[in-house]
Amino acid sequence: MSKRKSEMADKDQKKKLKETTTTTTTTNTDDESTKTTTNTTLTAEEWIPKKEKYSERYYQILEKRKDLPVWKQKEEFIEKIKSTQVLILVGETGSGKTTQIPQFVCDAGLVKPGTMVGVTQPRRVAATSVAKRVSEEMDYELGQEVGYSIRFEELSSPKTFMKYLTDGMLLRESMNDPLLSKYSVIILDEAHERTLSTDILFGLIKDVIKKRKDLKLIVMSATLESGKFQKYFDNAPLIKVPGRLHKVEIFYTPEPERDYLDAAIRTVINIHEDEDDGDILVFLTGEEEIEDTCAKIQRECRNRNLKPMKTLPLYSSLPIFQQSKIFDTYKERKCIVSTNIAETSLTIDGIVYVVDPGFSKQKTYNPRSRVESLLVAPISKASSNQRAGRAGRTRPGKCFRLYTEAAFKKLEPQTHPEILRSNLSAIILQLLRLGVVDLVHFDFMDPPVPETLMRALEVLHYLGALDDEGNITKVGEIMSEFPLDPQLSKMLIASPEHNCSNEMLTIAAMLSVPNVFVRPKDSREDADAAKKAFDHFDGDHLTLLNVYHAFKQEKEDQTWCYDNFLNHRSIKQADSVRSQLARIMTKFKLPLLSGDINSRAYYNSIKKCLVAGFFMQVAKCEKKNQYFTLGDEQSVIFHPSTGLSRKPEWVIYNEFVLTNQQYIRTLTEVKFEWLVEACPDYFNQGGFPKKSKDAIDRSKRLMR
Ligand code: ADP
Ligand code: MG
Repeated sequence: MSKRKSEMADKDQKKKLKETTTTTTTTNTDDESTKTTTNTTLTAEEWIPKKEKYSERYYQILEKRKDLPVWKQKEEFIEKIKSTQVLILVGETGSGKTTQIPQFVCDAGLVKPGTMVGVTQPRRVAATSVAKRVSEEMDYELGQEVGYSIRFEELSSPKTFMKYLTDGMLLRESMNDPLLSKYSVIILDEAHERTLSTDILFGLIKDVIKKRKDLKLIVMSATLESGKFQKYFDNAPLIKVPGRLHKVEIFYTPEPERDYLDAAIRTVINIHEDEDDGDILVFLTGEEEIEDTCAKIQRECRNRNLKPMKTLPLYSSLPIFQQSKIFDTYKERKCIVSTNIAETSLTIDGIVYVVDPGFSKQKTYNPRSRVESLLVAPISKASSNQRAGRAGRTRPGKCFRLYTEAAFKKLEPQTHPEILRSNLSAIILQLLRLGVVDLVHFDFMDPPVPETLMRALEVLHYLGALDDEGNITKVGEIMSEFPLDPQLSKMLIASPEHNCSNEMLTIAAMLSVPNVFVRPKDSREDADAAKKAFDHFDGDHLTLLNVYHAFKQEKEDQTWCYDNFLNHRSIKQADSVRSQLARIMTKFKLPLLSGDINSRAYYNSIKKCLVAGFFMQVAKCEKKNQYFTLGDEQSVIFHPSTGLSRKPEWVIYNEFVLTNQQYIRTLTEVKFEWLVEACPDYFNQGGFPKKSKDAIDRSKRLMR
């Protein structure tokens, strides 16, 4: 190309960049893959532009940034990363890893024009809030130069050179771009969390860096498993960022606490009454518990005529504008009540007191019974120490452990990697789609037990994603394109046959967002009564469909949602998820059909289609309220949230929930014939899944 021509192309390019606006889309767009090629005409300065004039706020933040521990090692970092392909970086939470290192990478000139530095986060909340913070630090508008991508939500533009994304999203991107060509540098952050997706990314990227010598990988972690990471990445060099932790005094309870919630509230009130200024951070396990506790703390403060305190909840499904309130300063003492997010993912300054009941929600999976559940379980020693460390960021602090010292000593040293306690069918399907066939020899940092792999292959085989030889089928390939569990994607693929793709899209979308029904503590009866109006005789999946239809009929009215105890934001989100799923359907030429609501067969077709995906999640009535799940052979009862008031012989369920009871949740009545029809192979004549030698032999064969 002549110089002039290339200059013109350059100008066009710039014009194009100026014209682009930020949109929320799926990552699955084809145009994105062409981005790398179209932007290579840009120079490095144009790609990561320096502003002539920065805002005042930029300089204010810059001063604070320069105080962060990582800044002392900026030169060392830049020098090291230039000279190596893989670098391990460990440092205390709050030392500036997540927010600063990607910016150092840009300063080092490692982000080639047209490409990005991608930073993975295990949590959606962290991906969105950190992207927001860093765009402010760099004085950009969020979604332009700095963007984020989480499941069903992407905020980026053709100008984006730094993207925070969940580890699951990067894994998904790698399906369509196995060499991750959009990235010059990949940072796997929070590696100590050992989430399922991060563990898989370790294995995949270890392979990619052999093929792409120009790709740099940085593995960042809070705790000191650094030796293990170094070894796994062929003795990659290590940078340690010494923390700036103040002393934290630890207090244990002399006796075990019977009720950790009561104890937590009591402790917060005691701190507020007796201790000096300084914010409080309480670790609890889930949304409901957290909201409840915030309300109770407020009430206690009023009842006792204490100084006001600002209670702030923090959990994954909290909208981003509410999350950011935890970083604001207030006149009153702040009391943040949070899930594990605040352990390492998000750093909140000014915390002086930590209240740690010692529990978190953890996934467990039993491959034998095939039951995956989220259970409240004791945390590990490493977690416990991380939590305590949150108190000493600004000045010496105190950590109140609501368990005995003896109990602390008995805790597991580290949390088990998620890969050892998860159902792997979705991830295995992605791996197979990526062409990783030899699962047994995949380079897992910690390999899952063979039984878990076998179970996953078996499920995929019954769903038709794998053939008898264990090769991925056409159906399996399409299934892997949906960012959904294999059961749901199978259901969508089957929907045109049942003439109800539009209905199934709605159901799948409504199942993929936070609960649409609101049930405030002080008006439960009214909420339950409101829900009854939507309840469908045949079960909860159809109730969700009713809610969505009513929402559309009411023109998505917010007041209407409020009056009917529905979460407007959730349903809006479902609407967006629905259109994204519809786009994938269209891409694979799956027609978007609707049934005739006046026909007698209408609801049966929808239910049959549910069965096409969920025939392995079925329970049979044993007696009265007691049900028995097929395949896993568990005694279960209906979750109290169900609107199914009858006790039909067979129901399919969306979820198995284990608390003090074994529940099945989101239920719909089905007929046994439909189950057999959906997968004759899975059911034998007696009505129970085959456990024949045949089936066992086949799973062994699938494992090769
Ligand atoms: P690390 O990843 O090492 O745990 P981070 O880079 O996340 O540390 O955070 C470094 C510091 O940046 C925090 O201690 C805090 O002072 C500041 N910070 C991060 N996010 C925000 C935010 N959203 N608002 C204000 N300050 C923030
Ligand atoms: Mg971090």
